[in-house]
Amino acid sequence: MTFLRFFCFFCLISLAFAHEAFDSHLLLKPLVLEVPESGENQLKEVDGEIRLRCDSWRFNVEANNLNPWRTIPKNCTEYVKQYVTGRAYQLELKIASNEAGIFAKSVKLVGDGKDVWIFDIDETLLSNLPYYTEHGYGSEGFKADEFDSWVQMGTAPAIQPSLELYKELLDLGFKVVLLTGRSEYQREATTQNLINAGFNDWDRLILRRDDDHGKPAVLYKSEKRSEMENEGFRIIGNSGDQWSDLLGTSISIRSFKLPNPMYYIS
Ligand SMILES: [Mg+2]
Repeated sequence: MTFLRFFCFFCLISLAFAHEAFDSHLLLKPLVLEVPESGENQLKEVDGEIRLRCDSWRFNVEANNLNPWRTIPKNCTEYVKQYVTGRAYQLELKIASNEAGIFAKSVKLVGDGKDVWIFDIDETLLSNLPYYTEHGYGSEGFKADEFDSWVQMGTAPAIQPSLELYKELLDLGFKVVLLTGRSEYQREATTQNLINAGFNDWDRLILRRDDDHGKPAVLYKSEKRSEMENEGFRIIGNSGDQWSDLLGTSISIRSFKLPNPMYYIS
């Protein structure tokens, strides 16, 4: 019996040190937020009437009827927190990616390497939820310096349904293009973050150059899609969390809008 106790103790110690030896930064981190069971971060009961109104607000956000909006309504902060950290957000992401995959499989690719699927990055491939958890889930105004510091850390986790779609598209033979509102100076941090989160093998990563700054996202992204079309690419699909990722000119055959009730980009 004593030997068994020592053996178990030895196994536990070994496991603990084995865990320490891993470089967790290199591991794919699933999007799982731990919500404390007590303390001020505890999920609160959202009043029925407030929930109803915030539901209606979120529906109109996703339908692009509230255009533009700057911050989430103050009394919807707890509602948005519960949504983005709960199952509804994950299910909606999953349905959007599943439907994109069904469409992708239905497309007969030409096979000349010119069939393209475009992905946005923030809140599409990578989740900035750890950042927004510290910034009121969109109830605070956007703080560019603080967000840039977060981006430079390169630790945003993958949005898992998007990662699954991404891999499926590559297997089907699509060229993947990443078109982001991030800037050229963020290329290295963004590239490392994407790779650490499990994204590989993109055809090109397009970031804002100096002459793109100041352009609305819808114009900047339309211009980049137009340039791709002029090179002979066929834009089959496009996945993004903002309507400005998907609308404008040179749009894809099918667009897939991912949910995002935390911020709006025109
Ligand atoms: Mg985005």
